[in-house]
Amino acid sequence: MPAAVAGPEIERLIQLLARLPGLGPRSARRAALFLIKKRELIMAPLAAAVQTALEKIEICGTCGNVDTQNPCTVCRDVNRDPSMIVAVADVADLWALERAHAVNARYHVLGGTLSPLDGVGPQDLTIDALVSRAHDPAVKEVILALNATVDGQTTAHYITDLLHGANVTVTRLAHGVPVGGELDYLDEGTLSAAIRQRTAI
Ligand code: ZN
Repeated sequence: MPAAVAGPEIERLIQLLARLPGLGPRSARRAALFLIKKRELIMAPLAAAVQTALEKIEICGTCGNVDTQNPCTVCRDVNRDPSMIVAVADVADLWALERAHAVNARYHVLGGTLSPLDGVGPQDLTIDALVSRAHDPAVKEVILALNATVDGQTTAHYITDLLHGANVTVTRLAHGVPVGGELDYLDEGTLSAAIRQRTAI
């Protein structure tokens, strides 16, 4: 354990920053030093923004999105197609789809994917709430926008079985060649999925 180079308050700041995704101990020190140098310009507004967000954050009771109002901004948006629900594992996936302007629909955040190895079962996710939303007569399609991993696909199959009773079309994301991707660099699984899911031009 190296000796501390600063007082406990600064060491604590560094330790907390080091817990952020993408920041290791070294970059946490760099970030802490940057904040300290820019304490008026960045540190004080950041501290205020964190405090305000902390006080106002709410989880949407309908879809599970994170917002400062409940129902969330997406669920309140009357211009969204109410016939489609896009099920995602995590809020990060919802935000990614929104950034891409991929779909103008409502969402449902499952809170993860089924993972027997990690002890995540159906009761740990909001699958029941999704099934109940899918029974709303206004809903015609549930898009399972889940990771193309074993856990993601297991979850998709599980949900598809549960949605048999609802009057909805269940779809999932296509697997295949990424936009701008070169075939030579793709793994065999992606290439064969792309061939299987080829579309007419
Ligand atoms: Zn919502």
